[in-house]
Amino acid sequence: MDLCNLSVIKSLMADAGITFRKEFGQNFLINRMIPEDIADSCADTSDRMILEIGPGIGCLTQELAIRYKKVVAVEIDKGLIPVLEKTMADYDNVTVINDDIMKIDLETLVREYSEGMKVSVCANLPYYITTPILMRLLESGIKFSSITVMVQNEVAQRLAAAPGSSDYGAITAILGYYGTTKRLFKVSAGCFLPAPKVDSAVVRIDLYDSPVYDIKDEALFRSLIKAAFEMRRKTLQNAISAKIQGFTKEEITSAIVSLGHDERVRGERLSTEDFARLSNALTEIRCKR
Ligand code: SAM
Repeated sequence: MDLCNLSVIKSLMADAGITFRKEFGQNFLINRMIPEDIADSCADTSDRMILEIGPGIGCLTQELAIRYKKVVAVEIDKGLIPVLEKTMADYDNVTVINDDIMKIDLETLVREYSEGMKVSVCANLPYYITTPILMRLLESGIKFSSITVMVQNEVAQRLAAAPGSSDYGAITAILGYYGTTKRLFKVSAGCFLPAPKVDSAVVRIDLYDSPVYDIKDEALFRSLIKAAFEMRRKTLQNAISAKIQGFTKEEITSAIVSLGHDERVRGERLSTEDFARLSNALTEIRCKR
């Protein structure tokens, strides 16, 4: 069954008595090549479990099932479950779970289904909730090998931006703590039903096996990034003094200068590694008092 075919999608949904639900960010792929390309690029080896978020009627799920040993697909919309039971009937390596990815116990899910295999995440994400989903996956502590997601093109640019560029933001710097991010390819709005207002792109985050930055105080590291980008137009030292308590201006300046940056640098020029070193320098200053 071609699950990207317009009449197939419409008739599956009509048979189930359902319509597209905007509140769940439902924009289904209608160009066959896209789910094939996403499935191809989401992992390097087939002997793994793929966690798919939001299978919809299953067009990407199908391609994942062909390529990977196990697929677990979490779909919030209970109206789509009977459709998925039909479309996934021929794939005995697919498990569909009706739940909210923001609420489900991810650790139990992975323990139950991965059977010790590596786990990668793959999704055409609902746009209304892209960043919270990414942060939930990253902060779960689960050792995902990679996360490949379709997001709005401008979000993709932000996720994969280089320090100092206009797209670089707090999420980019935080992502750099967990792994490396690449923008893979763009997908035009016309490849979806209903068509969204903007184009999309696929990004792949390859997660580090173990942390590459030895951060002494993770809360401080996160607060520094937050402060730097909340007050983007200020110098970093002014942004830190305005938002983070407990350090004098001289202490902040000396920590910034110890990284090799000018004291008037703006936060947007700092890489993830710079933020890690800055938080360690400030932690050391605090300990030495
Ligand atoms: N994978 C399908 C495709 O590529 O055509 C559908 C993608 S559509 C952009 C997003 C899907 O995520 C929808 O099926 C929607 O119901 C589901 N969804 C939205 N919020 C969700 C959540 N919090 N947890 C799980 N699924 C969710």
